[in-house]
Amino acid sequence: MLEKVSTTTTADKTVLEDTSVYETAVRQLQAAADKLGIDEGVYQILSRPKRELTVNFPVEMDSGEVQVFTGYRVQHNLAGGPGKGGIRYHPDVTLDEVRALAMWMTWKCAVAGIPYGGAKGGVTCQPKVMSNRELERLTRRYATEISIMIGPDQDIPAPDINTNAQTMAWFMDTISMHRGITVPGVVTGKPLSIGGTLGRVEATGRGVMIAAREAASQIGLALDGARVAVQGYGNVGYYAARLLAEQGCTLVGVADSTSGLYSETGLDADALRQYKDTNGSFAGYTGVDRVSPQELLELPCDILVPAAIEGQVTAANADKIKARIIVEGANGPTTPEADAILYDKGILVVPDILANAGGVVVSYFEWVQNIQHYFWDLDEVNQQMESIMVRSFAEVTELAREEGASMRDAAMLLAVGRVVEAMRVRGVYP
Ligand code: GLU
Repeated sequence: MLEKVSTTTTADKTVLEDTSVYETAVRQLQAAADKLGIDEGVYQILSRPKRELTVNFPVEMDSGEVQVFTGYRVQHNLAGGPGKGGIRYHPDVTLDEVRALAMWMTWKCAVAGIPYGGAKGGVTCQPKVMSNRELERLTRRYATEISIMIGPDQDIPAPDINTNAQTMAWFMDTISMHRGITVPGVVTGKPLSIGGTLGRVEATGRGVMIAAREAASQIGLALDGARVAVQGYGNVGYYAARLLAEQGCTLVGVADSTSGLYSETGLDADALRQYKDTNGSFAGYTGVDRVSPQELLELPCDILVPAAIEGQVTAANADKIKARIIVEGANGPTTPEADAILYDKGILVVPDILANAGGVVVSYFEWVQNIQHYFWDLDEVNQQMESIMVRSFAEVTELAREEGASMRDAAMLLAVGRVVEAMRVRGVYP
């Protein structure tokens, strides 16, 4: 299962290590399965994806040249409902990564108690150097290629890294053209004008803020004045930073994939967003201290939000982390080795499958609204999401106390237990 994965961790350093993200996901499952004492057969089912599709497809580039891209859609487990999970466009996308992300979606939906199985998709590409028209052609062809697995009752994609509401609009339009009817419920994270929901764009960041607030209250840390560092300044990182600042936190550090910034007195989340939108990255930002994306993780702060990619907090840097709380906006940012070190250091880690569930929870609301053809106001969306986040956080916290376990282990016990129960009552077919 091990394969060579090239992981770009900083601008100046490309680390080539023997690492499999899926191996990390399976190790987390194994720990939960051992503790729950689940049947070996059930473990065997859960330790591999139910269904996976690899597609190689041509896209005509603006130059007229035809390039072949590889994409994936993986459904890890459908015991709880249709598949749900985002679509990622990134040069490092591999089948191994998509498998891990699909498994994490299974657990995330189970922790939040929403009626979905876990799925994920991705295309290996360099979206940052592609034109809008190229991205549209890539999206429409990829949607066509994986359409055999997709549908409102089958599997419902959503945005992830480097995909957004426009990507979902192209995706929805493509599936709708094939079927000859408009099918809004085939994807979530759509623009409002075609059946998107209020509150979806900021939902993951809002959920991260709620998780951070609950975690802070648990350890007696006042949010007002708490120092926050955020790695990754995309849709998740930006909204988490902004909403935490609204709660009185001081944003002391941010980083994108190439460079980071540090200011003890605080950074302005919106000004940074504007700068990044205009200039593409923080690279030329002046007037504050500069740090690398890796150094960002080690800054003096109270709350650290890794909101970029997998494998950022590792055995190599876990010991240097100074935050009291880590709230995982990204999927899989912490390796199992790092988890153990952080636990021993007494750092409270709010795991990804809980901390960043706000996005998929509001995706669920969007899908419900699409099916019912009835739309909610923003307060309704935010309140319902908040109540699911607060309830899930409390359930995980209570289980962690009962079991004397970390929040990650407790979240996994809760999630795996729920999925196993769904599988048990359904039974083995035929
Ligand atoms: N890509 C997001 C995640 O990793 C959202 C998935 C969704 O809304 O389906 O949770």
